[in-house]
Order: sequence, then C-alpha cells, then structure tokens
Amino acid sequence: MGEDCLLCRAERVTDWHFEDEECWVADCLVCRTPMVVWRTHGLPDPRREAQLLARLERVAAARYGEEGYWIDLERRRIPDHWHAHARPAGGFFDPASELHGRWG
Ligand SMILES: [Zn+2]
Ligand SMILES: [Zn+2]
Repeated sequence: MGEDCLLCRAERVTDWHFEDEECWVADCLVCRTPMVVWRTHGLPDPRREAQLLARLERVAAARYGEEGYWIDLERRRIPDHWHAHARPAGGFFDPASELHGRWG
C-alpha cells in the first residue's frame, strides 16, 4: 500500500459502478471507460484475476452491450497495482473522454 499510489487512494473522482471487499469498478479518470481495481496493491493470481474481471465485465456489458467491449489488461500508468479497463469495441477511450477520437 503506497500513499502516493493513485489506485490505493481510491478517490471517488468519477462515477463508481460497483464495489465490494475485493475491488471497485469506476470510470477511469483519463479514458472514461469502466475500470476494475483490486483493493490490494500488487498482482493477483490468475484465479482471482478472473473473478475480478467478471465484475468488470458486468459493468462493461451494461455500458457497451455484451459484445460491445474488449478487456485491456495492460497497465500503462500504474504497472504494479492490478487494474483492468473495459474499452468500447474498436476503440480505446469512451466517447465521454476528451481524448476520444484524438488518439488510438
Ligand atoms: Zn496501489
Ligand atoms: Zn484509463
């Protein structure tokens, strides 16, 4: 747990869609797509990772439709704290992001 880790701080600066004792799902501040964040600073084993992704997929399907999203496991900004994005099919940012259409 690092005080300078943005994901450990878990500030509610965007809409939160789901939370439990394991994780939370909120819109990413940059991408505006749903993002699941493990509450533990570190990387889960594959079994736990699958459980966490199931939470994200529920939110993503409600936002983009069952076939309307893809899971992005790459951690670009904070590589040592597990999180994953659900991105709209064929895209990177949510249309609500000011970066939408400018990049990727
Ligand atoms: Zn962290
Ligand atoms: Zn993001």
